[in-house]
Amino acid sequence: MEKSEAQYAQAKLAQLRGEYQVDVLADWGDGDREWNPGLWTRAELDKLHNSIALLANVMGETTNFIRHLGSVTVKKSDIGTHGGEALAHRVSLSTKGSFSAWTVVHEFAHAWDANYGWKLSRLLEKYTGGYTSPFLSYLKQLAGLSDSAFLNPEKKPGRYGRRPGCNKAGYFYGDKPSGSNWSFNRVEDFAESVAMYIGWDRNNDLSEHARNRIIRYQLNNGEKDPFNTIDNWMDYAKHFYPDNGDYTKTKRWQFVDDLVNGRISVS
Ligand SMILES: [Zn+2]
Repeated sequence: MEKSEAQYAQAKLAQLRGEYQVDVLADWGDGDREWNPGLWTRAELDKLHNSIALLANVMGETTNFIRHLGSVTVKKSDIGTHGGEALAHRVSLSTKGSFSAWTVVHEFAHAWDANYGWKLSRLLEKYTGGYTSPFLSYLKQLAGLSDSAFLNPEKKPGRYGRRPGCNKAGYFYGDKPSGSNWSFNRVEDFAESVAMYIGWDRNNDLSEHARNRIIRYQLNNGEKDPFNTIDNWMDYAKHFYPDNGDYTKTKRWQFVDDLVNGRISVS
């Protein structure tokens, strides 16, 4: 943040606090001798605000957003290779490079789930007909039914570990998520499902990403998807490609729709 932008940034922080009870830990300001720009940019504050608004808008009133998440503190933090991390009331965004609108919504969805003791992801798991069983996952891998190496993913097409239960958590997802990999579990499923719901068939900052998630299953095996991954997409279509390519036909879309419209009771 340049010194000339500090006033704008302060106003944006006040807006985030006032509208959503979101506090950004400012890392810019007057240093001992000179201005300390920190890592945040003005464009990132705008992106953060716009992305939070996307999540808040599907919840209806901003009071719903505050009720669902409580207050949230956002900071930039050195969190290794992933783009973000979240706990209840806390979202960290990587100091390495910038972040996407998708990452913001994904991490805030985690903060929402965490604020309910991770119960929302359990409800999603149940609603979509999935379950988590490390034991059955182990057996599946032992029997050679996994699309991965034994207890490990491989970095090659058809071996990343995308089939149900073929992941670290032993998560047998039900219905059709938009994708799966070795890190997939019900918590990641929930965060991704919220982001997919918000982006799907709308015209917002998540929409292209959401569409790319689905259309890749129409590619041939060995082709590169919009995220630059080569995989056997045709083989995976049965696990991930929704009826007629329409994501609103999935149980995940329906779950998030029910959730944000108050048709699922979360006590
Ligand atoms: Zn996540």
